[in-house]
Amino acid sequence: MILTLKKGTTQKGIEQICHKITKLGFSFHISKGKERTIIGVVGENAIAKREIFESFFVVDSITPISKPYKLVSREFKKENTVIKVKKVKIGGKKIVVIAGPCSIETEKRLLEIAGIVQKAGAVILRGGAFKPRTSPYSFQGLGEKGLEYLAKASRITGLPVVTEARDTSQLELISRYSDIIQIGARNMQNFDLLKEAGKIKKPILLKRGMSAKIEEFLMSAEYILSRGNNDVILCERGIRTFEDSTRFTLDLSSVPLIKRLSHLPIIVDPSHGTGRRELILPMSMAAIASGADGLMIEVHSRPEEALSDGFQSLLPKDFRRLMKEMRGIVKVFKRSI
Ligand code: PEP
Ligand code: MN
Repeated sequence: MILTLKKGTTQKGIEQICHKITKLGFSFHISKGKERTIIGVVGENAIAKREIFESFFVVDSITPISKPYKLVSREFKKENTVIKVKKVKIGGKKIVVIAGPCSIETEKRLLEIAGIVQKAGAVILRGGAFKPRTSPYSFQGLGEKGLEYLAKASRITGLPVVTEARDTSQLELISRYSDIIQIGARNMQNFDLLKEAGKIKKPILLKRGMSAKIEEFLMSAEYILSRGNNDVILCERGIRTFEDSTRFTLDLSSVPLIKRLSHLPIIVDPSHGTGRRELILPMSMAAIASGADGLMIEVHSRPEEALSDGFQSLLPKDFRRLMKEMRGIVKVFKRSI
C-alpha cells in the first residue's frame, strides 16, 4: 500500500507516521519527491488497515499495490532504478556489457581475458570462484584464491567485477573482493541467501531460476529489497522447456514484461541461455531489441582448455565482432554502449 502524504508535510510529520506504521506491525520505505513524500507500507495484509491509515492527518491518498511483490513493483516506483557500480550505471540509457570466463582458472588467464574484454568494450568483468556444478566431480572453482585473482584483475583494468555466492557463509568473504554479488539460477529461491543478500551493501545480480515463473523471480528480488538492499539487477538466463537443441530456452519475452512490472534493471545472459556459441550474437541483438539494459557473456581465450562452459564461450575475435555489431544495433533503440 502506498501512502501519498499531503504537500508540505514536515519531517516531524513523516517521523510520526513512520512510528505509527511500525507500531501497527508494518515496515515502511520512504521516497521523497520534489513536491511530495510517498511511503510504501509493507507487511502481511496491510490494506486491511486502510481505514486507520486514512484517518492520519498527513495522509492525502492511499493506493493499494495489487501485486504480491511490492517494493520491486512499478506501482511502488515509477522511474527506472539505475544502479551505480564504480563509474558504471546499470539501468540507464547505456547498455552494460559484462564479460569474462565462466570460471576463474589461473591468474594469468584471467588477466589475459580481462584485457581482451575490456579492450573490446566490456565494462564489467565476470568470473566464478565458487561454481555451482551439476556434477560433484567437475571443477568447483578456486574459492578465495580465485577472488584474489579477480580483485587483482579489477585493480589492473579498473573494471568492476561480479562473482557468484553459493551460500550465506560466502557472502561476507565475496563482498570484500567483488563489486557485485551474483546469486545464480540454482539459488534463486535459496531464501536464506536472499535474506542475507538483503543485508549487505553491494549490488546483487539475481539470475532467474531455470524453472521459475516471472512472478517467483520478482518475489525473490522482493526478499532482497525487503531486507534493505535496493540494488538488485535481474538477469534472464533461460528456462527449461521440452526443447533440447539449445541448453535452455532463452525467454526474452520476460524482458519487456518485467520492464512493465518492475522498476529494476534487467540484463540478459545469452551464453547460458542458449549454450551455443553461434546463437550468442543473434540473441544478444534480440535481447537489446527486447529492452534489456545489458548483456552477460562468457568469453575465453582458449575455450578448448576451459575448466567449465568452454563450448559456449566466445573466442576473443567473436566477442569483438559482437561488440561491433552491438554498436550499430543499440542506436536503433536510442541507447548507447
Ligand atoms: C554463471 O553465470 O556462472 C552461472 C552458473 O549461471 P546460471 O546460474 O545462470 O546457471
Ligand atoms: Mn558458465
